[in-house]
Amino acid sequence: MPRDYYEVLGVGREAGDDEIKKAFRGLARELHPDINRHDPEAEEKFKHVAEAYEVLSDSERRATYDRYGHEGLRSGGWEPAGASFNDISDIFQAFFGGGDIFGGRGRGGPQRGRDAAVEVSLTLAEVLTGASRDVEFEVTARCSRCNGNGAEPGTPIETCPRCEGTGQLQSMARTVFGQVVRTHVCDRCGGDGRIPATPCEVCRGSGVETRSSALSVDIPAGIEDGQRVRLGGKGHAGTLGGPAGDLYVLVEVEPDPRFERHGDDLITRLDVPFTDAALGAAVSVPTLEGDEQIELDAGSQPATVKRLRGRGLPALRGRGRGDLHVVLNVMIPSRLTDEQRELLQRFAESSNGDTYSSKGGDRLFDRLRQAFRG
Ligand SMILES: [Zn+2]
Ligand SMILES: [Zn+2]
Repeated sequence: MPRDYYEVLGVGREAGDDEIKKAFRGLARELHPDINRHDPEAEEKFKHVAEAYEVLSDSERRATYDRYGHEGLRSGGWEPAGASFNDISDIFQAFFGGGDIFGGRGRGGPQRGRDAAVEVSLTLAEVLTGASRDVEFEVTARCSRCNGNGAEPGTPIETCPRCEGTGQLQSMARTVFGQVVRTHVCDRCGGDGRIPATPCEVCRGSGVETRSSALSVDIPAGIEDGQRVRLGGKGHAGTLGGPAGDLYVLVEVEPDPRFERHGDDLITRLDVPFTDAALGAAVSVPTLEGDEQIELDAGSQPATVKRLRGRGLPALRGRGRGDLHVVLNVMIPSRLTDEQRELLQRFAESSNGDTYSSKGGDRLFDRLRQAFRG
Protein backbone atom coordinates (compact mmCIF):
# COMPACT_ATOMS: atom_id res chain seq x y z
CA MET A 1 0.00 0.00 0.00
CA PRO A 2 1.63 3.30 -1.08
CA ARG A 3 1.95 5.93 1.59
CA ASP A 4 -0.15 9.02 1.60
CA TYR A 5 1.50 11.71 -0.52
CA TYR A 6 0.81 14.48 1.99
CA GLU A 7 2.37 12.36 4.68
CA VAL A 8 5.44 11.67 2.52
CA LEU A 9 6.06 15.38 2.04
CA GLY A 10 5.07 16.17 5.62
CA VAL A 11 2.45 18.76 4.72
CA GLY A 12 -1.23 19.15 5.52
CA ARG A 13 -4.01 18.54 3.02
CA GLU A 14 -4.59 22.26 2.80
CA ALA A 15 -0.97 23.07 1.94
CA GLY A 16 -0.48 25.62 -0.85
CA ASP A 17 1.87 25.23 -3.84
CA ASP A 18 4.67 27.16 -2.17
CA GLU A 19 4.52 25.06 0.94
CA ILE A 20 4.61 21.86 -1.11
CA LYS A 21 7.57 23.10 -3.13
CA LYS A 22 9.40 24.13 0.01
CA ALA A 23 8.79 20.78 1.65
CA PHE A 24 10.01 18.97 -1.42
CA ARG A 25 13.19 21.04 -1.70
CA GLY A 26 13.95 20.44 1.95
CA LEU A 27 13.56 16.68 1.58
CA ALA A 28 15.49 16.59 -1.66
CA ARG A 29 18.37 18.39 0.00
CA GLU A 30 18.30 15.88 2.84
CA LEU A 31 18.35 12.96 0.43
CA HIS A 32 20.88 14.43 -1.97
CA PRO A 33 22.85 11.72 -3.79
CA ASP A 34 26.17 13.40 -3.03
CA ILE A 35 25.43 13.14 0.66
CA ASN A 36 23.74 9.77 0.63
CA ARG A 37 25.83 8.05 -2.01
CA HIS A 38 25.34 4.29 -1.92
CA ASP A 39 22.51 4.54 0.55
CA PRO A 40 19.68 2.56 -1.05
CA GLU A 41 17.28 3.69 1.63
CA ALA A 42 17.80 7.36 0.79
CA GLU A 43 17.32 6.52 -2.85
CA GLU A 44 14.06 4.70 -2.15
CA LYS A 45 12.86 7.56 0.05
CA PHE A 46 13.65 10.09 -2.61
CA LYS A 47 11.67 8.14 -5.18
CA HIS A 48 8.63 8.37 -2.94
CA VAL A 49 9.24 12.05 -2.31
CA ALA A 50 9.59 12.74 -6.04
CA GLU A 51 6.44 10.80 -6.80
CA ALA A 52 4.49 12.68 -4.12
CA TYR A 53 5.74 15.99 -5.45
CA GLU A 54 4.96 15.04 -9.01
CA VAL A 55 1.35 14.52 -8.03
CA LEU A 56 0.80 17.31 -5.51
CA SER A 57 2.51 19.99 -7.59
CA ASP A 58 0.05 19.43 -10.45
CA SER A 59 -3.40 20.79 -9.62
CA GLU A 60 -5.27 18.35 -11.85
CA ARG A 61 -3.43 15.28 -10.53
CA ARG A 62 -3.75 16.56 -7.01
CA ALA A 63 -7.52 16.89 -7.40
CA THR A 64 -7.76 13.34 -8.76
CA TYR A 65 -5.67 12.07 -5.87
CA ASP A 66 -7.74 13.99 -3.31
CA ARG A 67 -10.98 12.46 -4.60
CA TYR A 68 -9.97 8.95 -5.65
CA GLY A 69 -6.60 8.29 -4.02
CA HIS A 70 -3.79 6.17 -5.52
CA GLU A 71 -6.27 3.95 -7.32
CA GLY A 72 -7.78 6.91 -9.09
CA LEU A 73 -4.39 8.00 -10.41
CA ARG A 74 -3.45 4.54 -11.60
CA SER A 75 -6.76 3.89 -13.31
CA GLY A 76 -6.40 7.24 -15.04
CA GLY A 77 -3.24 5.85 -16.63
CA TRP A 78 -0.79 7.92 -14.63
CA GLU A 79 2.62 6.47 -13.81
CA PRO A 80 5.14 8.22 -11.61
CA ALA A 81 8.03 9.38 -13.79
CA GLY A 82 10.47 8.54 -11.02
CA ALA A 83 9.61 4.85 -11.17
CA SER A 84 11.23 4.47 -14.57
CA PHE A 85 14.60 5.78 -13.41
CA ASN A 86 17.15 3.29 -12.19
CA ASP A 87 19.21 5.60 -10.23
CA ILE A 88 18.61 8.48 -7.94
CA SER A 89 21.15 10.59 -9.79
CA ASP A 90 19.09 10.23 -12.94
CA ILE A 91 16.08 11.53 -11.10
CA PHE A 92 18.00 14.50 -9.81
CA GLN A 93 19.31 15.18 -13.28
CA ALA A 94 15.87 15.02 -14.84
CA PHE A 95 14.51 17.15 -12.08
CA PHE A 96 17.07 19.86 -11.92
CA GLY A 97 18.43 19.64 -15.44
CA GLY A 98 21.94 18.80 -14.29
CA GLY A 99 24.46 21.22 -12.94
CA ASP A 100 24.39 22.37 -9.40
CA ILE A 101 21.16 21.60 -7.66
CA PHE A 102 20.76 23.64 -4.57
CA GLY A 103 22.97 26.61 -5.14
CA GLY A 104 25.43 27.66 -2.51
CA ARG A 105 27.80 24.90 -3.53
CA GLY A 106 28.42 26.18 -7.03
CA ARG A 107 30.83 29.00 -6.41
CA GLY A 108 33.41 27.59 -8.79
CA GLY A 109 35.36 26.11 -5.93
CA PRO A 110 38.94 24.89 -5.97
CA GLN A 111 39.83 23.15 -9.21
CA ARG A 112 42.74 20.86 -9.89
CA GLY A 113 45.11 22.20 -12.54
CA ARG A 114 45.44 20.55 -15.92
CA ASP A 115 48.19 18.03 -16.69
CA ALA A 116 51.19 19.10 -18.75
CA ALA A 117 53.35 16.97 -21.02
CA VAL A 118 56.87 17.02 -22.44
CA GLU A 119 58.70 14.61 -24.69
CA VAL A 120 62.18 13.22 -24.24
CA SER A 121 64.22 10.95 -26.46
CA LEU A 122 66.55 8.17 -25.30
CA THR A 123 69.00 5.91 -27.08
CA LEU A 124 68.86 2.17 -26.48
CA ALA A 125 72.14 2.45 -24.58
CA GLU A 126 70.43 4.90 -22.22
CA VAL A 127 67.54 2.50 -21.78
CA LEU A 128 70.17 0.10 -20.44
CA THR A 129 71.41 2.47 -17.76
CA GLY A 130 68.51 4.83 -17.22
CA ALA A 131 69.03 8.50 -17.97
CA SER A 132 68.45 11.95 -16.64
CA ARG A 133 67.00 14.73 -18.77
CA ASP A 134 66.58 18.44 -18.19
CA VAL A 135 63.18 19.39 -19.54
CA GLU A 136 61.65 22.81 -20.04
CA PHE A 137 57.96 23.35 -20.43
CA GLU A 138 55.29 25.99 -20.08
CA VAL A 139 52.83 25.85 -17.23
CA THR A 140 50.22 28.19 -15.92
CA ALA A 141 51.08 29.43 -12.47
CA ARG A 142 49.67 31.98 -10.10
CA CYS A 143 50.35 35.43 -11.55
CA SER A 144 53.30 36.96 -9.73
CA ARG A 145 52.21 40.56 -10.38
CA CYS A 146 48.76 40.38 -8.82
CA ASN A 147 49.44 37.34 -6.66
CA GLY A 148 46.49 35.60 -8.30
CA ASN A 149 43.69 38.03 -7.54
CA GLY A 150 43.63 39.47 -11.07
CA ALA A 151 43.78 43.16 -10.11
CA GLU A 152 46.53 45.65 -10.84
CA PRO A 153 48.41 46.10 -7.57
CA GLY A 154 46.82 48.90 -5.56
CA THR A 155 43.49 48.84 -7.41
CA PRO A 156 40.23 47.65 -5.85
CA ILE A 157 38.27 44.50 -6.53
CA GLU A 158 34.58 45.10 -7.07
CA THR A 159 31.38 43.14 -6.89
CA CYS A 160 30.61 41.38 -10.16
CA PRO A 161 27.82 43.30 -11.92
CA ARG A 162 26.59 40.26 -13.82
CA CYS A 163 25.77 38.06 -10.83
CA GLU A 164 25.70 40.87 -8.28
CA GLY A 165 28.28 39.14 -6.21
CA THR A 166 26.55 35.81 -5.80
CA GLY A 167 28.87 34.03 -8.23
CA GLN A 168 25.87 32.28 -9.75
CA LEU A 169 23.39 32.80 -12.53
CA GLN A 170 19.99 31.25 -12.75
CA SER A 171 17.99 30.14 -15.72
CA MET A 172 14.75 28.29 -16.24
CA ALA A 173 14.88 24.75 -17.53
CA ARG A 174 12.09 22.44 -18.60
CA THR A 175 12.09 18.98 -17.04
CA VAL A 176 9.57 16.18 -16.68
CA PHE A 177 8.37 17.95 -13.57
CA GLY A 178 7.80 21.23 -15.38
CA GLN A 179 9.82 24.42 -15.14
CA VAL A 180 12.63 24.45 -12.62
CA VAL A 181 15.30 26.98 -11.86
CA ARG A 182 18.80 25.94 -12.80
CA THR A 183 21.78 27.48 -11.12
CA HIS A 184 25.18 27.71 -12.71
CA VAL A 185 28.48 29.46 -12.18
CA CYS A 186 28.68 33.07 -13.36
CA ASP A 187 30.62 33.27 -16.62
CA ARG A 188 31.87 36.76 -15.93
CA CYS A 189 33.56 36.28 -12.55
CA GLY A 190 33.95 32.51 -12.68
CA GLY A 191 31.94 32.07 -9.49
CA ASP A 192 34.06 34.38 -7.43
CA GLY A 193 31.41 37.11 -7.20
CA ARG A 194 34.13 39.74 -7.42
CA ILE A 195 36.09 41.12 -10.34
CA PRO A 196 39.03 43.51 -10.46
CA ALA A 197 38.23 47.14 -11.35
CA THR A 198 41.54 47.37 -13.24
CA PRO A 199 42.63 44.00 -14.56
CA CYS A 200 46.26 43.04 -13.91
CA GLU A 201 48.54 44.00 -16.79
CA VAL A 202 50.30 40.68 -16.86
CA CYS A 203 47.44 38.19 -16.60
CA ARG A 204 44.60 40.46 -17.84
CA GLY A 205 42.60 39.60 -14.77
CA SER A 206 42.79 35.85 -14.96
CA GLY A 207 45.11 35.57 -11.97
CA VAL A 208 47.33 33.06 -13.74
CA GLU A 209 50.24 33.48 -16.09
CA THR A 210 52.22 31.15 -18.30
CA ARG A 211 55.63 30.53 -16.96
CA SER A 212 58.43 28.37 -18.22
CA SER A 213 59.46 25.67 -15.85
CA ALA A 214 62.60 23.55 -15.84
CA LEU A 215 63.10 20.21 -14.20
CA SER A 216 65.55 17.37 -14.18
CA VAL A 217 63.73 14.10 -14.86
CA ASP A 218 65.06 10.63 -14.13
CA ILE A 219 64.00 8.10 -16.74
CA PRO A 220 64.24 4.58 -15.34
CA ALA A 221 66.25 1.86 -17.06
CA GLY A 222 64.20 -0.55 -19.15
CA ILE A 223 61.61 1.99 -20.27
CA GLU A 224 59.90 1.30 -23.58
CA ASP A 225 59.12 3.58 -26.46
CA GLY A 226 55.78 5.33 -25.87
CA GLN A 227 55.74 4.93 -22.10
CA ARG A 228 55.43 7.93 -19.84
CA VAL A 229 56.79 9.02 -16.52
CA ARG A 230 54.44 10.95 -14.25
CA LEU A 231 55.63 13.73 -11.96
CA GLY A 232 52.82 14.50 -9.54
CA GLY A 233 51.95 18.15 -9.02
CA LYS A 234 54.36 19.50 -11.62
CA GLY A 235 51.66 20.44 -14.15
CA HIS A 236 49.48 23.53 -14.42
CA ALA A 237 48.47 25.40 -11.29
CA GLY A 238 45.04 24.77 -9.81
CA THR A 239 42.57 27.60 -9.24
CA LEU A 240 41.27 28.95 -5.95
CA GLY A 241 43.73 26.84 -4.00
CA GLY A 242 43.13 23.59 -5.92
CA PRO A 243 46.11 21.27 -6.40
CA ALA A 244 48.36 21.49 -9.46
CA GLY A 245 48.03 18.94 -12.28
CA ASP A 246 50.70 16.39 -13.11
CA LEU A 247 53.53 16.49 -15.60
CA TYR A 248 53.76 13.59 -18.01
CA VAL A 249 57.12 12.88 -19.61
CA LEU A 250 56.55 10.97 -22.83
CA VAL A 251 59.50 8.79 -23.67
CA GLU A 252 60.65 8.08 -27.19
CA VAL A 253 63.31 5.43 -27.64
CA GLU A 254 65.32 6.13 -30.76
CA PRO A 255 65.59 3.17 -33.08
CA ASP A 256 69.07 1.64 -33.21
CA PRO A 257 69.85 0.17 -36.65
CA ARG A 258 71.95 -2.56 -35.05
CA PHE A 259 69.27 -3.94 -32.76
CA GLU A 260 65.66 -4.94 -32.82
CA ARG A 261 63.96 -4.86 -29.45
CA HIS A 262 61.54 -7.51 -28.23
CA GLY A 263 60.66 -6.56 -24.68
CA ASP A 264 63.84 -7.04 -22.67
CA ASP A 265 65.53 -9.05 -25.43
CA LEU A 266 67.55 -7.67 -28.32
CA ILE A 267 68.13 -9.23 -31.71
CA THR A 268 71.06 -8.38 -33.92
CA ARG A 269 72.07 -9.69 -37.34
CA LEU A 270 75.68 -10.70 -37.77
CA ASP A 271 77.12 -10.89 -41.29
CA VAL A 272 79.55 -13.82 -41.52
CA PRO A 273 81.54 -14.76 -44.67
CA PHE A 274 80.69 -18.30 -45.72
CA THR A 275 84.32 -19.26 -45.22
CA ASP A 276 84.22 -18.22 -41.57
CA ALA A 277 80.97 -20.13 -41.11
CA ALA A 278 82.48 -23.19 -42.75
CA LEU A 279 85.88 -23.05 -41.07
CA GLY A 280 84.94 -21.57 -37.71
CA ALA A 281 86.23 -18.19 -36.54
CA ALA A 282 86.32 -15.61 -33.79
CA VAL A 283 83.95 -12.83 -34.76
CA SER A 284 83.02 -9.50 -33.27
CA VAL A 285 79.40 -8.90 -32.16
CA PRO A 286 77.94 -5.48 -31.37
CA THR A 287 76.38 -5.14 -27.92
CA LEU A 288 75.04 -2.08 -26.11
CA GLU A 289 78.26 -2.07 -24.13
CA GLY A 290 80.62 -2.26 -27.10
CA ASP A 291 81.82 -5.05 -29.35
CA GLU A 292 82.29 -8.52 -27.98
CA GLN A 293 84.21 -11.49 -29.41
CA ILE A 294 82.38 -14.77 -29.88
CA GLU A 295 83.57 -18.08 -31.32
CA LEU A 296 81.84 -19.53 -34.35
CA ASP A 297 81.99 -23.29 -34.64
CA ALA A 298 83.18 -24.77 -37.92
CA GLY A 299 80.14 -25.62 -40.02
CA SER A 300 77.92 -22.87 -38.54
CA GLN A 301 74.68 -22.79 -40.52
CA PRO A 302 72.77 -19.77 -41.86
CA ALA A 303 70.29 -18.26 -39.40
CA THR A 304 71.96 -19.96 -36.43
CA VAL A 305 71.09 -18.01 -33.30
CA LYS A 306 73.74 -17.40 -30.69
CA ARG A 307 72.31 -16.30 -27.41
CA LEU A 308 74.31 -13.95 -25.22
CA ARG A 309 72.62 -14.27 -21.88
CA GLY A 310 72.07 -11.13 -19.85
CA ARG A 311 73.23 -8.82 -22.62
CA GLY A 312 69.76 -7.49 -23.42
CA LEU A 313 67.87 -4.76 -21.55
CA PRO A 314 66.89 -4.60 -17.90
CA ALA A 315 63.28 -5.15 -16.89
CA LEU A 316 61.55 -1.85 -16.07
CA ARG A 317 60.41 -3.06 -12.70
CA GLY A 318 62.27 -6.16 -11.77
CA ARG A 319 65.65 -7.76 -11.70
CA GLY A 320 68.04 -9.11 -14.27
CA ARG A 321 68.41 -8.43 -17.94
CA GLY A 322 67.13 -9.93 -21.13
CA ASP A 323 69.32 -11.69 -23.70
CA LEU A 324 71.01 -10.65 -26.92
CA HIS A 325 70.18 -12.99 -29.80
CA VAL A 326 72.76 -12.98 -32.57
CA VAL A 327 71.39 -14.29 -35.85
CA LEU A 328 74.08 -15.44 -38.29
CA ASN A 329 73.70 -14.12 -41.80
CA VAL A 330 76.06 -16.31 -43.79
CA MET A 331 77.26 -14.34 -46.80
CA ILE A 332 77.78 -16.01 -50.16
CA PRO A 333 80.20 -14.21 -52.50
CA SER A 334 78.45 -12.38 -55.32
CA ARG A 335 81.54 -11.54 -57.35
CA LEU A 336 84.46 -13.92 -57.86
CA THR A 337 87.89 -13.43 -59.40
CA ASP A 338 89.10 -16.06 -61.87
CA GLU A 339 91.31 -17.49 -59.21
CA GLN A 340 88.50 -17.70 -56.65
CA ARG A 341 86.21 -19.36 -59.17
CA GLU A 342 88.85 -21.95 -59.88
CA LEU A 343 89.35 -22.60 -56.17
CA LEU A 344 85.63 -23.02 -55.62
CA GLN A 345 85.32 -25.33 -58.61
CA ARG A 346 88.07 -27.52 -57.19
CA PHE A 347 86.27 -27.43 -53.84
CA ALA A 348 83.01 -28.47 -55.49
CA GLU A 349 84.67 -31.36 -57.29
CA SER A 350 86.11 -32.63 -54.02
CA SER A 351 82.74 -32.38 -52.23
CA ASN A 352 80.37 -35.28 -51.73
CA GLY A 353 77.09 -35.89 -49.91
CA ASP A 354 78.90 -35.88 -46.57
CA THR A 355 80.21 -32.36 -47.04
CA TYR A 356 76.77 -30.78 -46.47
CA SER A 357 75.15 -33.20 -44.07
CA SER A 358 74.99 -31.03 -40.99
CA LYS A 359 74.00 -32.44 -37.62
CA GLY A 360 70.99 -30.18 -37.58
CA GLY A 361 69.66 -31.48 -40.87
CA ASP A 362 67.20 -29.15 -42.55
CA ARG A 363 66.22 -27.06 -39.60
CA LEU A 364 66.51 -23.62 -41.16
CA PHE A 365 62.88 -22.79 -40.46
CA ASP A 366 63.15 -23.94 -36.87
CA ARG A 367 66.02 -21.57 -36.39
CA LEU A 368 64.17 -18.71 -38.04
CA ARG A 369 61.23 -19.32 -35.81
CA GLN A 370 63.46 -19.39 -32.78
CA ALA A 371 65.12 -16.14 -33.79
CA PHE A 372 61.87 -14.22 -34.06
CA ARG A 373 60.08 -15.80 -31.18
CA GLY A 374 58.75 -13.35 -28.60
ZN1 LIG B 1 29.73 37.13 -11.52
ZN1 LIG C 1 47.99 39.12 -12.66
